[in-house]
Order: sequence, then structure tokens, then C-alpha cells
Amino acid sequence: MNCPNCGAPMRHEPGQEFLVCDSCRSIHHPEVNADGIVVTGSPTGRLCPLCRLPLSEAAILGQSLLHCPNCRGSLIASETFLFLVAHLRLKPGEKPFPPRQFEQAELSRAIDCPLCSRRMDTHPYAGPGNIVIDNCPGCSVNWIDSQELRRVAAAPDSSPNPGAWKIP
Ligand SMILES: [Zn+2]
Ligand SMILES: [Zn+2]
Ligand SMILES: [Zn+2]
Repeated sequence: MNCPNCGAPMRHEPGQEFLVCDSCRSIHHPEVNADGIVVTGSPTGRLCPLCRLPLSEAAILGQSLLHCPNCRGSLIASETFLFLVAHLRLKPGEKPFPPRQFEQAELSRAIDCPLCSRRMDTHPYAGPGNIVIDNCPGCSVNWIDSQELRRVAAAPDSSPNPGAWKIP
């Protein structure tokens, strides 16, 4: 996005959730959405596997990801996802989500990796939140739908589903 002060393109400071304007030195804090994701960049050449609209550069907890502003899904590196599972926590006063099973239909969805266009593998995730994850083993990325990060963060317990898939 461009600087609201001088109009020059702003850049995302790695590890931060704000944008810096190198031209006038101002700092801009973009809005944090309900999933805790901050859209930090302009649309990229990668398309959302569900909406076919451009994914934007975004950040959560200082980690980079690609985010669809339309369906609010995100493409997150496997390493980053594991970091988020370990660090996303309920804020004081927030209630845990009620336990929920994913729907079988979520497992039969077929989506293609936005990076390499290969069909992604769809698994129930073994960690908290009872979510279904679409994974591209070649690119080491996961597609996470809107609200799924919140469900991981706000899961009432973290006991894994027996036999469910773990990120390798
Ligand atoms: Zn500026
Ligand atoms: Zn989308
Ligand atoms: Zn891929």
C-alpha cells in the first residue's frame, strides 16, 4: 500500500506488523482483522485457490503469509504454522471456542496449491482446534481457512485426534 502521508509505496518491516515509508519516515499500522491477520502489502501474482482473486502479503505475530481479503483464507508456510500454533493464545477475557468437529465435506474439498498449482493434500490436523488443513508437501505450505487460526488458538483443549495428520 502507499503512504497516507506522502503517497510513496510503503514497505513491510520484517518481523513487525507495521509498514514503513522510506520517503517521509512515517509508520502506518494497518488494521488487524478478526483472525489477527494484518494485510501489509499489495496484491501479489498468486491467486486464492478458492476465489481465484489475488492473495495479498500479510503478517501475523510478525510472521509473513499470503492472505485472501475476500474469503480470508491464508497460505502459511508449514514452519510458520507450527510457530503460530505454539504462540497464538487466547487474550484475557476471550472465551474458548466450543469443541467442534470438522465437517466431512471439508475433507473432500480439492484445492490446488497457489504456488505450484499441484493438488493439495487435505487432512484433519492433529493439533488443537479440530481443523482441516490443505497441505502442499512440495512447497511446505498450508492453506488455512478463515477462523481456523482462531479455532487453533481458542481450542478448549489441545488433545490431538488419534491418528490425525501431523505436519511433517
Ligand atoms: Zn511517506
Ligand atoms: Zn479467497
Ligand atoms: Zn505447492
